[in-house]
Amino acid sequence: IKNIGVLTSGGDSPGMNAAIRAVVRASIYYDIEVTGFIRGYEGLINDDCMPMDRKSVANIIQRGGTILKTARSEAFKTVEGRKTAYDNLKGRNIDALIVIGGDGTFTGANVFATEHDFPIVGMPGTIDNDLAGTDFTIGYDSAINTVIDAVDKIRDTAESHDRLFIVEVMGRDSGLIALRSGIGVGAEAILIPEANMGVEDVLHKLEHSRKDKASKIIIVAEGDDAGGAFKVGEILQSKYPHYDTKVSVLGHIQRGGKPTCMDRVLASRLGVSAVEGLIKGERNAMAGQVNKEMIFTPFDHAIKHINAEKVSSTWIKLIDILSF
Ligand code: ATP
Repeated sequence: IKNIGVLTSGGDSPGMNAAIRAVVRASIYYDIEVTGFIRGYEGLINDDCMPMDRKSVANIIQRGGTILKTARSEAFKTVEGRKTAYDNLKGRNIDALIVIGGDGTFTGANVFATEHDFPIVGMPGTIDNDLAGTDFTIGYDSAINTVIDAVDKIRDTAESHDRLFIVEVMGRDSGLIALRSGIGVGAEAILIPEANMGVEDVLHKLEHSRKDKASKIIIVAEGDDAGGAFKVGEILQSKYPHYDTKVSVLGHIQRGGKPTCMDRVLASRLGVSAVEGLIKGERNAMAGQVNKEMIFTPFDHAIKHINAEKVSSTWIKLIDILSF
């Protein structure tokens, strides 16, 4: 391998810059050129790219967002779009690709790699942590720390006013942000798509929870069947008018900010592992970290959202025990 292309794609996550830096530095270490593509797969199709050297990734490990920008590319979902991308890569003598993103990014990479027999390795860059083949994705730890920081502040005001707060966190298909941050903030209940818990269960829990506790926090994952925090708030307020209920949707702050040390180290390890993997012949697979070991998982397995591994009933019970 002589020239690796690197891009960030899909939703951004804190730590993507640390990931780019690691890919660039590892490539240079192994005497491989690196080309950075701008705006994910759009950059491949538009041939929008730049050569990357040691200096181009200096002083970015601590920065949120992604210096390569990211985008959702409709054109890459078409055969013609992917053919243009392939021609552009060949035209630049790029012989392998590292894509940093989530399940959509790997679905696209899988289609492209199969269609054009092109070596691709992925790095899990998403705040959702919804990929199989890695204990944590790059950005998840930063996002949940942003959530607990915000909810700690909400707890202060909830406590002063004896309020019930329903806080919505990100996670369209996965409740993992809600789950871990819910434990971290001492939430009274969480509503996540994986747990089959409805608003009725939350009501029941509230009625049986500690009466002496002034504030109550319920964390709702945006993808939960209950239909979002405002819907949950309406139901709770109508059934229990004695609660002073407020709703807070945290939104995009969860995607931004400095990556935590854990995300920086994870991104750094995975970046080096991805480059070394390509050199050793890894193809069509995501670099991940499981039990501190660096491993590779085929894209079609990594994207399967095997949350059962990560959202076990043990976790749910933990919340029940701690909020009792
Ligand atoms: P996140 O989960 O953090 O939002 P993601 O990688 O899942 O990140 P998506 O927008 O779902 O984000 O996917 C990124 C890009 O991958 C899409 O914009 C598209 O270009 C490409 N992609 C997704 N699915 C396919 C597909 N079936 N075929 C080809 N390309 C695809």
